[in-house]
Amino acid sequence: MARILYLECTKCGEKLGAEKPQTVCPNDAGSLYVRYDLQSLKESFTRESLAGRVASMWRYREVLPEVEPITLGEGFTPMLPSRKQANVLIKDEGLNPTGSFKARGLCAAVTMAKAYGLKKLAVPSAGNAASALACYAAAAGIEAHIFMPRDVPAANLVECRQYGAEVVLVDGLISDCARMVGERRDKEGWFDVSTLKEPFRVEGKKTMGYEVAEQLAWKLPDAIFYPTGGGVGLIGMWKAFEEMEYLGWIGRERPRMIAVQAAGCAPISKAWQEKKPVSEFWPKAATVAAGLRVPKAYADYLILDILRQSGGTAIAVSDDEIMRSVGEWASQEGIFAAPEGAASLAAYRKLVDTGFLKASDRVVLFNTGSGLKYIDAIQSHGKEHAARDGNSGAMKRKRMGGIIQPY
Ligand SMILES: [Zn+2]
Repeated sequence: MARILYLECTKCGEKLGAEKPQTVCPNDAGSLYVRYDLQSLKESFTRESLAGRVASMWRYREVLPEVEPITLGEGFTPMLPSRKQANVLIKDEGLNPTGSFKARGLCAAVTMAKAYGLKKLAVPSAGNAASALACYAAAAGIEAHIFMPRDVPAANLVECRQYGAEVVLVDGLISDCARMVGERRDKEGWFDVSTLKEPFRVEGKKTMGYEVAEQLAWKLPDAIFYPTGGGVGLIGMWKAFEEMEYLGWIGRERPRMIAVQAAGCAPISKAWQEKKPVSEFWPKAATVAAGLRVPKAYADYLILDILRQSGGTAIAVSDDEIMRSVGEWASQEGIFAAPEGAASLAAYRKLVDTGFLKASDRVVLFNTGSGLKYIDAIQSHGKEHAARDGNSGAMKRKRMGGIIQPY
């Protein structure tokens, strides 16, 4: 396995040791990247060495921290060719523990917390990160303190409580939750595992990049559509591509990285259109895709830089487009996706329509989680539609793609 050489600030390049828990750069609060001794791995850690390894994200253990993992079988999720659209592949993260991609990042973060001997973790969450933290903290025997908006999907709340986490429901958004964690963490002795305010969630999420490459026989796709709230996975995959190039597993080619957001909360998309290096706080954020309801991503500067470097873009889609895509994927592909995940299908359509991508481009759409986590939101969206559409029941059924049946 790789020894961690140091943690590196993504803003000023400051190097910090990994012997003790670190949060962000002391100089400028930049997010920290974990840097390994990849040079010493080049000979032994080859693409071929993966054969026969465990079908989880820990198959890439050489580029993950050298500690005993707290694992529940996260990662190595299916890469499914679309049954309807040629050249489209769906990376289905709904099959992870707790039903979302958040399992990867929190698995790595909790694994390191356990190794560091931390006893109390706290997180502000839009929903699924809370479930994943609660789950892995339970497995590790560590306390989880969770702050999430009062209107999160019901599944997230039920899960967190069942996992034994302490849950605080907040009348506000994830940004309000983050402020509350910040105010209380020192007094309570909590370690904050917020998105990109500790270095290891990126490490867990980066394994998606390794999987995309391995599952596509080391030929990266032309574009990757990634539903972007905090953007950890997009950042992590980009880091994985750099590491793989260094290891000699891939060349210099990169996919165009596409950040997918909801029209009701699209700070990255707005900053991208305005060609700004950072985003502005999005006021009155509202969308059915709870995980996209992040008014300002902590590492927005990294996300926007990656979009630029990759020749990608950011795009926002409406809740109606998202919900139509949920129904379409379910009824046509057999994939009951989270609204966040289905947003990538709507975004793909738009970018082919505008000519940004060609139908012949090979693309990976990330479904970030299972639709089962959003039963309440999907059901109530159907009811709102019914009310809005009045007596046009046939239209409603068509628009909902058959997911919400009239009773
Ligand atoms: Zn710094």
